[in-house]
Amino acid sequence: MKEKVVLITGASRGIGAAAARRFAAEGCRVVVNYNRSRAQAEVLAEEIGGWAVQADVSDPVQVQNMVDNVLDKFCQLDILVCNAGIAQQKLFGDLTDEDWRRMFAVNVDGVFYTIRAALPHFIHRKAGRIVTVSSMWGQIGGSCEVAYSAAKAAVIGLTKALAKEVGPSGITVNCVAPGVIATEMNANLDAEALAALAEETPLGIIGQPEDAAQAIWYLASDDAGFLTGQVLAPNGGLVI
Ligand code: NAP
Repeated sequence: MKEKVVLITGASRGIGAAAARRFAAEGCRVVVNYNRSRAQAEVLAEEIGGWAVQADVSDPVQVQNMVDNVLDKFCQLDILVCNAGIAQQKLFGDLTDEDWRRMFAVNVDGVFYTIRAALPHFIHRKAGRIVTVSSMWGQIGGSCEVAYSAAKAAVIGLTKALAKEVGPSGITVNCVAPGVIATEMNANLDAEALAALAEETPLGIIGQPEDAAQAIWYLASDDAGFLTGQVLAPNGGLVI
């Protein structure tokens, strides 16, 4: 197959869906992973000529099956985007064991399981692009988002360490750490809160899913061949 095959986790909506559209527009064959939003994922896959695949990234068996199915179907995987994630706002003292474990299960274990399943293929081919999705809170910490911030900081650590380990195999591993992006993840923020965040942002606006997708695409593209272990932050200047 001539076109590149990309697997994007959490691509049923938000940033992942925008990335799926972007990669498809660039001529890639896109595997649209979803967990619960089956209808959205299938409509998107139909729209972009991709393939929708269900897997909960926090389940290593489901993730391995998904990657095996992708390789069976396309015989190749060129790019992996670990985008699936969940967020939660809570005071630190109110976090339960279950809150903490679910946050890490999806946002950290999910990245680990997905990369672990795809890596032997990349190593065998001595090529591959991995892009993880963290958050500005993983860089600077967010009040009432301690679990999310810790999980997203772990994603940055994983990215940097793995970049060193697999660089000699011709594989790049980079991270996108978006600022505030208008998706369902921020549906709890009312217009006033969003306006305040925009005002705090040097560029004076809230990001759109396409802004994050653009950064993901760049790190996965041939143009980023000499970049690895980096954190690219589409955040309007909110964190510099
Ligand atoms: P979103 O609109 O809430 O979408 C989240 C996506 O992740 C959905 O496609 C969802 O799929 C998927 N997902 C959640 N749990 C999953 C699981 N266990 N297995 C597989 N997929 C799962 O969020 P978003 O704003 O696009 O966020 C995408 C990524 O960007 C996340 O990692 C998030 O932390 C990060 N981020 C977002 C912002 C922001 O301001 N929006 C800022 C910084 C970083 P289903 O609906 O199918 O379950």
